[in-house]
Amino acid sequence: MEYRTLGKTGLRVSIIGYGASPLGNEFGDTDVAEGVRAVHHAIEHGINYFDVSPYYGRTLAEERLGAALQGQRDKVLLATKCGRYGKEAAECDYSAKRVTAGLDESLKRLRTDHVDVIQVHDCEMAADPEQIIHETLPALREIVKAGKARWVGITGLPLKLLRYLASEAEVDTILSFCRYNLMITDMDEVLTPLCRRKNIGLINASPLHMRMLTEKGVPEWHPAPKDVLDVSRRVVQACREAGADVADVAFRFCLDHPDVATTLVGMSKQRHVESNLRALEVKNDPALLKRLAEIIAPVKNVMWMQGRPENNDPNWVERR
Ligand code: NAD
Repeated sequence: MEYRTLGKTGLRVSIIGYGASPLGNEFGDTDVAEGVRAVHHAIEHGINYFDVSPYYGRTLAEERLGAALQGQRDKVLLATKCGRYGKEAAECDYSAKRVTAGLDESLKRLRTDHVDVIQVHDCEMAADPEQIIHETLPALREIVKAGKARWVGITGLPLKLLRYLASEAEVDTILSFCRYNLMITDMDEVLTPLCRRKNIGLINASPLHMRMLTEKGVPEWHPAPKDVLDVSRRVVQACREAGADVADVAFRFCLDHPDVATTLVGMSKQRHVESNLRALEVKNDPALLKRLAEIIAPVKNVMWMQGRPENNDPNWVERR
């Protein structure tokens, strides 16, 4: 395993990060015992960064991860989130009171007395992002003072909002998802330079574009526009014709990013942990990457929207 420093936190994190949202059945029902095996296999092979949220499976992922980590908590760095507790904006609450109580509930489910990183989940869901600067993040700093978390971060889909928040407030980490992978690289235009300048730990999530870049394809709820989905199927096909697994190519592409401390891939099956670990040992074929870039070009950087429209970047397209 290779380890990198997560910005100013100084934490040494494995470049493969364990995304625990599938443990909460976000991508379909998960076999509980298989999920435990996946977590244990990951730890045995040096994966030390685990990301979860009370939102995933509406607390189920935290419950299951907490159970799987029993007796192994000291081997991992644990990150959870606060503020998003349901799909709708009405179920999000970024108030100091709610996020403080929310973390206590998360700690119980995770069976630990502290997390290493506490993050504001999906900042674009907030009615007023100024609340995150003036209320939520200060509350998280109090949580740090109380010893219940070590570092504070923000997460979300719209890049400009994340950049704005990290310019106005002190944050230790930023988790960006679906903005840097084979289909899209605009994270580098907006967020990466700021993270470099301010030494903010950069976490890149959803290297498979939320299962788009797999043989199985997207779950029914996937928000991507139809044109993007059509192109992604051609990407899968082109990899197949080249004798490669699209997930391997897509994951390796993300691991090659020099500024990303850890790439979070969602896993609830041991065989996925095994194949993602294998990505450490392979290189992508430049000729295949060039072919894929040509296929992707017409929809490169086309995004969907999440949360409040006014919080989003302008390059989103409605699902059709
Ligand atoms: P992803 O791109 O990692 O895709 C996950 C899906 O791909 C799952 O269905 C999984 O079973 C499947 N998969 C994993 N490895 C595979 C392989 N080798 N071959 C075939 N299929 C494979 O998307 P994600 O899970 O949404 O993102 C990863 C993690 O990042 C999440 O679990 C979560 O922890 C984090 N995340 C955070 C935020 C946020 O904070 N706002 C948003 C998105 C993701």
